[in-house]
Amino acid sequence: MQKILIVEDEEKLARFIELELIHEGYTVGKAADGRTGLEMAQSGDFDLCLLDIMLPELSGLEVLRRLRRTSELPVILVTARDAVMDKVSGLDLGAQDYITKPFAIEELLARIRAALRNAAPRAQASETLSCGGLTMDLGRHTVQYNGTEIKLTGREFLLLETLLRNKTLVLSRETLMEKVWGYDYMGETNVVDVYIRFLRSKIDDVFGIKLIHTVRSVGYVLKE
Ligand code: CA
Repeated sequence: MQKILIVEDEEKLARFIELELIHEGYTVGKAADGRTGLEMAQSGDFDLCLLDIMLPELSGLEVLRRLRRTSELPVILVTARDAVMDKVSGLDLGAQDYITKPFAIEELLARIRAALRNAAPRAQASETLSCGGLTMDLGRHTVQYNGTEIKLTGREFLLLETLLRNKTLVLSRETLMEKVWGYDYMGETNVVDVYIRFLRSKIDDVFGIKLIHTVRSVGYVLKE
């Protein structure tokens, strides 16, 4: 059974779409803000995401931008009437399609069917990154060390993925900030140090290994 995630803060509309989708035989998950929506979309549990643009916490476009770093989950954006720039940005960011409010439910269902048809099967989209005994499965959103699963938060996962994609290369705190937290993040770069500490406590410390290395006054590098 195909699972669809609805990220929509208008409760009545979300409920209406949910009932229609269930009636069509889909399983449905719902989120009412961008942050929760992003987490659920990254979980790997869904086949498609219906993503409203005007959302609390994180806008739909920001959710999409962050989601695309780790996931090819098909996304249909829900835009306000005449928001041309949103549509253009959304498609540039990797949305499969968009639909304009207010829409007829039949049109939405047709677009969902088309997007699901064109989507690669989830298993094929799976990509694996590794270093030493550490493996990250991007499709399943899991991390293991020699077969033992490591539970990471969304941010820790992104940070580790960035390190894995650039393994043996030294990454500065600024680069990590930009890749993991986004250009718009206004916080201090020591948040990177804090998250590196979290990763070490879950990986290096637990398995008695040294994968995450500090390069004094430069940044961090992942290597055996
Ligand atoms: Ca909205």
